Amino acid sequence: MLLRRGIAVSPGVAIGPALLLGTEGFRIPKNFVSIDAVEAEVERFHVALEKVCAEIERNQQLARDQLGEQYGAIFGAHLQMARDPKLISEIESLIREKCYSPEFAVSRVLRRYAKIFQNLDSNYLAERADDIFDLEKRLLRHLLGKRREELAHLTAPVLVLAHNLTPSETAGLNRKFVRGFATEAGGSTSHTAILAGALEIPAVVGVGPFLSDVSGGETVIIDGNHGQVIIDPDEATLNAYREAAERLRKVTQRLQKLHPLRSETKDGVSISIYGNIEFPEEVDHCIERGADGIGLYRTEFLYLETDEEPSEEDHYEAYCRVVQACPDRPVVIRTLDLGADKVPAALSEVMRPIANPALCLRSIRLSLRNLGLFKTQLRAILRAAVLGDVRIMFPLITSLLELRQAKMVLADVMEDLQEQGIPFKREVPVGMMVEVPAAAILADRFAPEVDFFSIGTNDLIQYTLAADRADPSVADLYRAGDPAILTLLRLVVEAGRKHDVAVTVCGQMGSDLPFVPLLIGLGIRQLSVTPHAIPEVKEVIRSITLPEAERIAKHAGELDVAREVENYLRGEMQRICPDLVV
Ligand code: PEP
Ligand code: MG
Repeated sequence: MLLRRGIAVSPGVAIGPALLLGTEGFRIPKNFVSIDAVEAEVERFHVALEKVCAEIERNQQLARDQLGEQYGAIFGAHLQMARDPKLISEIESLIREKCYSPEFAVSRVLRRYAKIFQNLDSNYLAERADDIFDLEKRLLRHLLGKRREELAHLTAPVLVLAHNLTPSETAGLNRKFVRGFATEAGGSTSHTAILAGALEIPAVVGVGPFLSDVSGGETVIIDGNHGQVIIDPDEATLNAYREAAERLRKVTQRLQKLHPLRSETKDGVSISIYGNIEFPEEVDHCIERGADGIGLYRTEFLYLETDEEPSEEDHYEAYCRVVQACPDRPVVIRTLDLGADKVPAALSEVMRPIANPALCLRSIRLSLRNLGLFKTQLRAILRAAVLGDVRIMFPLITSLLELRQAKMVLADVMEDLQEQGIPFKREVPVGMMVEVPAAAILADRFAPEVDFFSIGTNDLIQYTLAADRADPSVADLYRAGDPAILTLLRLVVEAGRKHDVAVTVCGQMGSDLPFVPLLIGLGIRQLSVTPHAIPEVKEVIRSITLPEAERIAKHAGELDVAREVENYLRGEMQRICPDLVV
């Protein structure tokens, strides 16, 4: 039995056989193929090789056209290496004679060559080793990409173990059969983690290297409550987990009774609870659990689910589905927040990989530079708004200029729709995410120009504390309880109060139970949370009074260090709702 710890990002426990997804970034385990599959596997290798050669040829042409003939020549060397008959025959013989999987054979042969180059006493040749690693990476991407496609054709339940899953891969997981996943990479508020919550499957991320200890098929426990992955569990551990599952089932049953009850504190202060969704189907999970509406609809997932750019009708249909499922309740549709870790295949051309994706042309910046894309979405939102209480929210607003530009584009779109005689709603409240420190600091100036604020703590924390939300190596620095974060929250709440602008918290902080009393104590009256957290958040709200929440916020504000704040809040939660603390 092997136990690994990571970051718990989606609650629950899953037990089942492991399905290992390799990636180019980690050591490929020594996997074998059966004798009768050997020729098909050799063929699979050749298909991948052809794709890689075509890819290199494209790059060669691009470099020639844009930079000049001599730069194209660099890729000529890559191509020569990829087509080297000796290399190809070595890989083929490992598959044919030793029954190695193509992934392992490729990795084995290319790494051996790379090592030889690295050990030669020449800087020039040592650098060629990088070219070999690049070739390995490309080949594995194609080989493993194929294997990832198999995910869509599962016929039995599995637990997926991978180095990393991109948000698009996670969005594409077959929910019927993928019962949980664990990844070596990822942080607590990475979009992959958020999606795990949306899929409502137990998940642990940021486990660190562990895949080389797994070959696939072993029984695995993914404990999404405590952030543990157990490989080959013994009988006693399995029993303990089965008992814990029973206890959890009872708490869930008890919480179900809360669904029709009001969300208010013990002393009658009403706190609205909205749901955060990524896919239209999730709206039903929110309504069943008694949500007051949708506080954050992450529309970019429309792009992440498919390889094609969605049309205005695709947008419109998705929005109508959500709005119609929420009669008389607000639906906050956030405009595209693409970029950083959310890069759809359909836009890979406009969004080239860059060194610092969180600080690049993402989100509203991308929309403002690609007006066609932005207007298509706004048209669909305004048309769907006819059906209900739709509100528009712009993400990652950093400056007033940006907010004003986005509003101008919205006004233009209204003009167009008007001219074309297409029905739409003009009186749609317009708000912004406060998720960049600049916006929080200047909340007082933004407030007169918006109808509402929604605080995106996931990004606000990463930008304030300079700690990547998806990087487990800085997970200990990424802290919701940091006094700098509490100070920014206060600024936004005060600006909202002064200008009578509603303030919601839609980042994961609102779903993290110990933070709920703090947020209420700070003056937040609306939370938008991950759907599965709705009943628990309601239970916390119904278990406190406003003076109690204010006392907690006051004390937390006096502490100097994030760890102290978080320990204090956890202690209070233990007291307020002991059986919700797992
Ligand atoms: C946030 O940043 O807190 C947020 C809600 O947006 P996202 O997680 O989609 O970046
Ligand atoms: Mg964000």
